[in-house]
Parts: sequence; structure tokens; C-alpha cells
Amino acid sequence: PKPVLLVSQCLLGDPVRYDGAHKQHPAIAQHLLPHITTAALCPEVAAGMGVPRPAIRRQQMGDSEIIALASSGAALANSLLSTSQRLATHATTQTAVAAILKARSPSCGIESSPLFNPDGTILALGDGLFVQQLRKHQTHLLLVSEEQLHDAESCVYFVRLCQLALALKLNLL
Ligand code: SF4
Repeated sequence: PKPVLLVSQCLLGDPVRYDGAHKQHPAIAQHLLPHITTAALCPEVAAGMGVPRPAIRRQQMGDSEIIALASSGAALANSLLSTSQRLATHATTQTAVAAILKARSPSCGIESSPLFNPDGTILALGDGLFVQQLRKHQTHLLLVSEEQLHDAESCVYFVRLCQLALALKLNLL
């Protein structure tokens, strides 16, 4: 069987970004997709935030992190946290060996998602909300930023790694 990989849906050419655009990734499409089973997901669309939607940001508020409107810093009540939790514990997630995620996103960014102060300055870079939940609930998953899969060589190497992870999972070694 082919390894199952979670993939940020916007990287597959689906227009699910806040501005109604996509971020199709040519190297992934050409060198990776033929060798994997794709489980596409967009945490923000799954949370019912719609397309298009206002841009959001992770923001520090006292001791905790909140989701705020990028334009004003106003706190945004939404189901992104509970949806991210649900997706991270979902059955499809449990069969996956890896996740390829969009860099810098407040949901999907791996160590690259800006955490803002209320005044709009950047406090730190870290994991987006969905990635935080994956780390908590799916410790076996290989987490890879799309920026690491920039050419044929890196994609081929990553496919081999995923095949190895699947073989380990199925006790085939
Ligand atoms: Fe892409 Fe993730 Fe943003 Fe959805 S939440 S548009 S999948 S980066």
C-alpha cells in the first residue's frame, strides 16, 4: 500500500485560503502525490470559517494564546481550537505516517507561525494551532513543511522516509 499523508488542502490547488486563493505546490504535485495516498484537510474551512474569510493571527493575551483578527487584533470567537483537536484525533489522522503543511499559517505552520503581541509586533515563531494539536495527539507523525520539499530530490527522499515509516507501522521490517 501507499503511505497515507495529511496535506494542507491549499497546497493541492484547492482555493481554500482566507483570500480565496490556493498555494499549489508544483514539486509536491509532480514528485510526491503519485506515490502517496493523500488525506487533504483545511482546519479553518473545517471550523466553518468560510472562503473567503478574514485573515487571522495567533496572538498572546496575558498567559494564553488566542486567535484574533489580523486587521485589528480583536479576539475572534471561533471553533478553530476544538476543530483542530477533532481533526488531530480523527481516524484518518491515525492511519497517516506524515503531514505536509503550509508554512507560516496560523493553523498549519510548523515552527514558522508568527505569534503576535496585541500591538501587532511579532513575539515569536512557533506552531500553528492545528500543528500544536498534532504534536499533542499524534506523536508518531513526521511533520514536514512544504518549504522543505522544494525539488525532486527532497520529495523522493521524503517518499522513501514515508515508505519506511509505513513498513515500520505494519511491522514489515
Ligand atoms: Fe491552507 Fe492550512 Fe490555511 Fe487551510 S488553514 S488555507 S490548509 S494553510
